[in-house]
Amino acid sequence: MYIDGAWIETRKTFASHNPANGEILGQAPDGNEIETRQAINAAAKAFPAWASSSAYLRSQLLYRAWQLMIQRKEELARLMSEEQGKPLKAARNEVVYGADFLQWYAEEAKRVYGQVIPAPRADQRFISLRQPVGVVAAITPWNYPMSMLTRKMAPALAAGCTIVLKPAEATPLCAMAVFKIFHDAGFPPGVVNLVTARDPEPVGEEMVSNPQVRKITFTGSTYVGKQIASKAALHVKRVSMELGGHAPFILCPDADPVHAAKGAVLIKGLNTGQACISPNRFLVHRPLVPAFVAELAARTAKLKAGSGLDESVSVGPLISQLALDKVHRQVEDAVSKGAKVECGGHRLSDGGLDKGHFYAPTVLSGVARDMLIWREETFGPVAPVIAYDDEAEILPMANDTEYGLAAYVYTPSLNRAMKLFEGLRFGIIGINDINPTAVAAPFGGMKESGLGREGGQEGISEYLETKLGGFSLG
Ligand code: NAD
Repeated sequence: MYIDGAWIETRKTFASHNPANGEILGQAPDGNEIETRQAINAAAKAFPAWASSSAYLRSQLLYRAWQLMIQRKEELARLMSEEQGKPLKAARNEVVYGADFLQWYAEEAKRVYGQVIPAPRADQRFISLRQPVGVVAAITPWNYPMSMLTRKMAPALAAGCTIVLKPAEATPLCAMAVFKIFHDAGFPPGVVNLVTARDPEPVGEEMVSNPQVRKITFTGSTYVGKQIASKAALHVKRVSMELGGHAPFILCPDADPVHAAKGAVLIKGLNTGQACISPNRFLVHRPLVPAFVAELAARTAKLKAGSGLDESVSVGPLISQLALDKVHRQVEDAVSKGAKVECGGHRLSDGGLDKGHFYAPTVLSGVARDMLIWREETFGPVAPVIAYDDEAEILPMANDTEYGLAAYVYTPSLNRAMKLFEGLRFGIIGINDINPTAVAAPFGGMKESGLGREGGQEGISEYLETKLGGFSLG
C-alpha cells in the first residue's frame, strides 16, 4: 500500500492470479479499515497545501506522471496482460489511454475558471470561485485496471483534491505500478494514497462513513454502486458512479449488414466482452439478419483465444470462474428458450486453455425478451442477435433496459441517425462508430448506469465546488 508518501507492508497479504493459467503473479498487502483511516488522515493533512498550490505546479507533476507512464508503456502493458488477461496490443492501448488522462488534465488544471456575475444592486459585486471538494475516495474495477485509475486521479489532482484509492482485488499489482508512477513523479506525501485489500467491504465502509472524505467516485457494478451511493447519502457526500451497461447495437433497415458486422465483432471482442460499453443486444431489421449473422459468425469463429502475451491472440480469458459460469448460464438459458448457437457456445479447454477461464466467442440468433441475456449484463464474448420488423419498434426495444450507458447505430441516413441520437436514453451514442470515447469527451451513463461524467470538461467539474462571494461596496 502507499500511504503518506511511503510504501507500507502488512503482515497479511493476498495473491494476484493470472486468469489465463491460474499462476500466482505476486502478493499485495491485505488492508482493512485501519489502513484506510490512516490513508484518509494522510490525504486530509495534505489537502490544504495541495488545494492552495499553484495550478501550474499540479500541471507539471501530472505531465511528469504522463511522461513516466508512456516511458513504461511496455512493462505496464505486460503486467496488465498477465494480471487482467487482455491481449498485449489492447493492454498497450489502455496504457496510452490511461496516460492521456494525465496529459489532458495537466492542461485542464490551468483552466478552472470562476465568474464575475452582474449583481442586482449597483453597490454589490458577485464573484464565484471553483474550489476542490476535498479528500476523494476512489474505488476502481479490474476490467480496465490502469486507465480507470488515471481517469479519476488526473482530474481530481488537477482540481486540487487529495485521494485515497482502492483498486479491485483481482488487479492490485496494476494499481501498485500506477502508484509507483505518481511516487516517482514527485507528488507530495499524502496527496495520493493506495489501499489494497482482498475484502473490499471494510475499506468501503470507512470511505463512506469517514467525515473527512467529501467525495466518493466509484466504477463497478450497479449492484455495489447502489449500496455505496445510499451509504454516502447518509453523510451527504458527493458521488460519481460509473456503473454497468446493456448496450443496444442497432442496424436500421438501410444499414449495410456486412459493414455493421465488421464493427460488431470488434466492439463485442473488446476486452473479451468485459467492457461496460460492450453491446449486449444486436437489434437487426429482420431482412438483414441472415447476412449480418453469417458475417458476424464467420468473423467471430476466426478469433483466436489464448494468453494475452501471445501476439497472435485477440481474445483473452474471462477474469474468473464466476464470470465464466455467468456467461455460460446466460447462453444455456437462451438456448433452452429457443435461441440458436451460430458459433461458440461453450468453454474452451484444448491446448492448455483449461487452466484459464476461456469462453469461445459466441453468436446467438433468435434471442427474445424472456431470456436472461435480454436484460442481464453479460460481461463476456457473447453476441445476442434480436430481429425486429417495424422501424417504430427500435426505440422502445433499445430503451427497454434499466441501464443507459452506451448505444450504437448503423445507418447511412442523417434523419434516422439524428432521430435515434436524440431518442436513445443512453449517455454515449456511436453513430456508425464503434469507438465513441476519448479523453476529451464526457463518458458516463443515464438511468442505472450512473451519475456524473468522466473525461472532458465535465470530468474535472466532478471534483470542484462552486463558491459564491457577494461583496457590498456601500
Ligand atoms: P464490482 O462492483 O464487483 O467491483 C468494483 C469495485 O468495487 C472493486 O474495486 C470491488 O472491490 C469494489 N467493491 C465490491 N464490493 C464492495 C463493497 N461492498 N464496498 C466497497 N467496495 C466494493 O464490479 P466488477 O465486477 O469489478 O466490475 C465490473 C462492473 O463494472 C460491470 O458492471 C461494468 O459494467 C462496470 N464498469 C463500468 C464502467 C463505467 O465507466 N461505467 C467501467 C468499467 C466497468
